[in-house]
Amino acid sequence: MTVITSDAHMQPVKVLDIPVNCASMDEALVKIGAFVSSGEQHQVITADSSMAVMSRDDIELRNIIEQASLVTPDSVGIMWAAHRLNPAITARVSGVELVEELCKHSSQQGYSLFFLGAAPGIAQLACEKMAQRYPGAKMVGAHHGYFNVSDLQSVIDQINVVKPDILCVAMGIPRQEKWIAAHMHNIRAAVFIGVGGTFDVLSGTVKRAPKLFQRMKLEWLWRVLANPKKIGKVMLLPRFVWMVITSKGRGTR
Ligand code: UDP
Repeated sequence: MTVITSDAHMQPVKVLDIPVNCASMDEALVKIGAFVSSGEQHQVITADSSMAVMSRDDIELRNIIEQASLVTPDSVGIMWAAHRLNPAITARVSGVELVEELCKHSSQQGYSLFFLGAAPGIAQLACEKMAQRYPGAKMVGAHHGYFNVSDLQSVIDQINVVKPDILCVAMGIPRQEKWIAAHMHNIRAAVFIGVGGTFDVLSGTVKRAPKLFQRMKLEWLWRVLANPKKIGKVMLLPRFVWMVITSKGRGTR
């Protein structure tokens, strides 16, 4: 993969309160590869419109986003807002596609992945599917995301035994971002990514939207119809739209 990146191009631009990096998928992969080799820890955030709304009232979440090493535009809503407020952002880098690309490049790049989150069995199944689809992918472990506080240390110990380069955490926004920020310093991994419903999709438990919905960029609507529990997220959309149309935008961090 040959990707030319300039630091200026990777500089974050503000979409509402969120500093989003203008990275394409290939640039994000190069950046994450560099994080793995850096010897330091990095949090990566895949930002969607619900996060933009939540971060307005949630200072803890906002601080975490501000301090993240990379923030990718995950959703159609963020792309729409970016288009109105900051034309520099042109490529969408969703959590599902980012994780799948990381699995795909894992064998050539040599980095390993651990999947933490989703209902029991789902992360393991997603790992198995990725290992089948991308032979040589280093899927070093999986654990569900419904453990008690009393099991926390045991989960961390399981991750630390295999020392993954990349820990993908799927517990929903903002829980996963806060979980990573609270525990990353006790975990032997280099890169931590909050990936929402990614394992449900990669495991095949939740089907991707039909092509028509994908083409119309209405995959989110399909997921709500398929899972009414997600209605809470949809309720944030009107506020998101209002925030965008009343925002002046065009700031840089
Ligand atoms: N989840 C979890 N632990 C929890 C709550 C949720 O592992 O305590 C999982 C849930 O099973 C699902 C994912 O987190 O796989 C959240 O997916 P969703 O698409 O709702 O995430 P978001 O839209 O917030 O990115």
